[in-house]
Amino acid sequence: MKLQFASVPKGLNAIMDVLRAEEDRIQKDRKIKSGGAKVHADEEWTAYRKLEKAFLDAHPEFRTPPPIKIRPKVPLRLVALGGSGEVGRSCYLLELGKHRILVDCGIKPGSSVDLHPDIDRLNQLDALVLTHAHTDHVGWVPALVRRFGKFDIYCSEGTAALLPVMLQDCRQHYIRKLAIRQEQARYISNAEVVEDAYDDADMHAVPNLAITCRFGETEVFPFGDASIRFYRAGHILGASSVLIEDQSGRRIFFSGDFSSFPQLTVPAASWPEDLGEIDLLVLESTYGSREHHKPLEDSRGDLVSFIRQTLETREGSVILASFGLGRAQELLKMLVMARQDGLLPSVPINVDGMIKQINPIYRKHAD
Ligand SMILES: [Zn+2]
Repeated sequence: MKLQFASVPKGLNAIMDVLRAEEDRIQKDRKIKSGGAKVHADEEWTAYRKLEKAFLDAHPEFRTPPPIKIRPKVPLRLVALGGSGEVGRSCYLLELGKHRILVDCGIKPGSSVDLHPDIDRLNQLDALVLTHAHTDHVGWVPALVRRFGKFDIYCSEGTAALLPVMLQDCRQHYIRKLAIRQEQARYISNAEVVEDAYDDADMHAVPNLAITCRFGETEVFPFGDASIRFYRAGHILGASSVLIEDQSGRRIFFSGDFSSFPQLTVPAASWPEDLGEIDLLVLESTYGSREHHKPLEDSRGDLVSFIRQTLETREGSVILASFGLGRAQELLKMLVMARQDGLLPSVPINVDGMIKQINPIYRKHAD
């Protein structure tokens, strides 16, 4: 059977218009007609489908795109188990549908009462994400191992490399605090029994749970319907911002600790220019209210000239106290560069403590 047209349409759009009009007419006939007329309409429909297919195969741009499937977004909830309204013990529980993802689990150095996040509120853990290896972001992970056994820890390669040293430091800090609390409890009647929340075995198990992720690559969680992507956050070696997405379209961005300017040992944060729509943004703001009046270069210059004066005019030594991870490496690089540039005399630089263990990790993983 052949379809007959009253006139030959000119141009592709006109052909498409005629085809659509014919489709409507034939479909109407198939619905309302009966007997021989219905049989004729069905034959017309078969011929029409062939003609339409031939046209669309030749001109696929006229195909109607399939309707976009819009799924309802899964419920989303964020609970700060620590690190909200305070500096330290960062720990955020992301409830994404039926999944429970924890972002960071640190301690609060210097505090014995609020030393760690409230992980007792956690009754399910599907994955842990670590933004970086500072103690206030990783220090309580061994207690999670004690509570949940095995679980996946997602972090950058730099963070994974730093974990053993940093957890050892956290352990020593915790043991000191624990001893103080246990000693205090001896003098209080009916005092709460203070027990070790984790042991060395829990601590040593942590690095083996790490799944290392590269910046800019997407890793799908083992539960299948959500993924994570790491972005460079500056700050210290391995520091990451993370984007967590699920298949319902939920998108959550954690900045983690970040620096928007390059430092001597790590480049600046690099977030994608077009991050797309975000349902929830968790933004680090520790120094958000502080104005930096002096450019970093000037502060470095002041420190170098102070050290030079002390060494040359007073013939003294200089002791610089610094956090072991991040700032220590920045200071060391600054001193070495100043020495190379002749801004400092060629005196030996000695380091102590865990800086000695962290420096080789920086050298190995720096880009
Ligand atoms: Zn940090």
